[in-house]
Amino acid sequence: MNTKRYPKGLESIQTPFYYYDTDLLRTTLASIKNYEDANEGFCVHYAIKANANPKLLSIIQEYGLGIDCVSGGEIQASLDAGFDPRKIVFAGVGKSDWEIELGLDNDILCFNVESIPELEVINEIATKKKKKANVCLRINPEVGAHTHTNIATGRAEDKFGISMEDMETVIQLTQSLPYIHFMGLHFHIGSQILDMADFEALCERVNELQDRLEAQQVKLEIINVGGGLGVDYNSPETNDVPNFKDFFNTYRERLHLREGQTLHFELGRAVVAQCGSLITKTLYVKKGNQRQFVIVDAGFTDLIRPALYQAHHKIVNITSDETETETYDVVGPICESSDVFDTDVVLPKTKRGDLIAILSAGAYGETMASQYNCRPLVQGYTKDDFA
Ligand SMILES: *Cc1c(COP(=O)(O)O)cnc(C)c1O
Repeated sequence: MNTKRYPKGLESIQTPFYYYDTDLLRTTLASIKNYEDANEGFCVHYAIKANANPKLLSIIQEYGLGIDCVSGGEIQASLDAGFDPRKIVFAGVGKSDWEIELGLDNDILCFNVESIPELEVINEIATKKKKKANVCLRINPEVGAHTHTNIATGRAEDKFGISMEDMETVIQLTQSLPYIHFMGLHFHIGSQILDMADFEALCERVNELQDRLEAQQVKLEIINVGGGLGVDYNSPETNDVPNFKDFFNTYRERLHLREGQTLHFELGRAVVAQCGSLITKTLYVKKGNQRQFVIVDAGFTDLIRPALYQAHHKIVNITSDETETETYDVVGPICESSDVFDTDVVLPKTKRGDLIAILSAGAYGETMASQYNCRPLVQGYTKDDFA
């Protein structure tokens, strides 16, 4: 057992399960907090869809972050975890009436609106409640993020957001609706972005749009640049805190904030990915003609990223003392051929009962879990549970 990274007692828990290194989470949050405090007007929201485990939420909440929600359920989970409703931003292309009502009733900071019909419905519901809805418009900046196509957004043909061409028309409509208060613009260019040039390109675009609007006397209180900062899935053990320095410095240096404006960020993956591992047990080691398989008790019901996005997660054997290594395909038990965590993984010679950790699984892991094959929903434990 690698006791430096995993506490004693871990081996007696029913597998599979998520294990969260809450010390690493706190280090990560402290780093974010540093940059937020050092840059006037910066407000960081945690994108709760990355991980909504209540134990993690309560720690994130302690650091004073705001929240970025994409559903009513997420708004409720944030409120339950003690987040300040005045720091909730609410995005999503398909907000239901009850979700809009929940946001209004709790006086959230703003709705990030993605279409004209949505704007009209929010105005209708707000009119009934005689309560003004704060609104930012989500604009497609057409800044390409060089990332997997399923997670790239912010291009003209995406279902998300409003095109730059339509921006002024929609702003005019927004300002004409009696129960809408127009606050600013929202952007989100994708996820797992490691090349700062993408964020630089977004800054340039935001500057352009601000200049354009300023010439028309349109003032913005809020600029929200979304999230998307990536993490190192290849070397999570040595590179466990994301590059917040370059990320926040890029925005500080490149984006021209106006007097009194606040700059909002919505970070999901970068906050929680590295603190989580999926812990699973080796059921069988099967030798094929060409390949060897380590068959584990976790499957894509517990972590779907490899099956859904061909995502790569580092995989380690945390109990073996073997010095000899072998090459394996690490696969799950689910009746779908896509239930493969990775191929050609070099591990110490692995045997039945060995514990395997799939690293960097804190983001879009537990929240995307399902019960396909009537499997029980995967549980999450934190380092604090073993203290
Ligand atoms: C998913 C999402 C985020 C978070 O993205 P990360 O890549 O996890 O940082 C932020 N904003 C919006 C609108 C999102 O949909």
